[in-house]
Amino acid sequence: MLLPKRPERLIDENGLRLDGRHEEELRPIKLEVGFLEKADGSAYIEQGKSKVLAAVYGPREAHPKHLALPDRARLRCRYHMAPFSTQERKSPAPSRREVELSKVAEEALHPVVFTEYYPRTCIDIFMEVLQSDAGTRCAGITAASLALADAGIPIRDLISACAAGKIDGRIVLDLDDREDQAGQADLPLALMGTRGEITLLQMDGILTPEEFEKAVDLAIKGCQKINELQREALRRKYSVAKEEAEEEKEEK
Ligand code: ADP
Repeated sequence: MLLPKRPERLIDENGLRLDGRHEEELRPIKLEVGFLEKADGSAYIEQGKSKVLAAVYGPREAHPKHLALPDRARLRCRYHMAPFSTQERKSPAPSRREVELSKVAEEALHPVVFTEYYPRTCIDIFMEVLQSDAGTRCAGITAASLALADAGIPIRDLISACAAGKIDGRIVLDLDDREDQAGQADLPLALMGTRGEITLLQMDGILTPEEFEKAVDLAIKGCQKINELQREALRRKYSVAKEEAEEEKEEK
């Protein structure tokens, strides 16, 4: 396969990025809650060209039994990239990266779930990347948080996630794949909505302490915007559900 040529500049003289975004702009985000009928809870996210589906099952009896915890539910996350999510077919077997990202997502979501309400059970969270164009761990966590809410599992807050990074020496929000490949740093962050607590912070590349602080602040701003979109998506789903229930009642 011919690799695309590395662009000479990622930010033009007008301060615009390759896809026309400003430095502090997120990619267009589309969120849908309750995307799947059979899972207990689900959500779908499109963030630019990245597309991720999240599904939640549980709380349900833990299998195998020895996994059950006496005082709380066990949260199990699976981050997986579909074989058709990348330019070259990806092996469907879980890679080291996917095993790591499953653990990272679980640690990012765990602090908001009232696991102590459901001892000896399991809550399974699946994040399936349908198309990957960078930022998929964050998109997965954002969707998984909505899927948890959709499943009716008590949570302290929503988790919103997005990355900031460094391209052409500038700190920018929400890198796409071309920027991630050619950029100098990437910093994914997950935020506990209104409380402002950070539940995931990773960094790839090199940043000075000042750049690091700027990137963290920018990623937090991005998460706050995503949090608003998540709330809207939940409201959309449940206002439709309410209308449908009322119509059904009238028909009876
Ligand atoms: P994230 O998607 O959270 O940014 P990474 O920084 O590890 O995660 O990966 C960045 C991007 O690199 C992915 O979104 C994807 O587009 C690409 N990528 C990762 N793993 C593979 C793979 N096995 N095959 C092809 N592309 C990949």
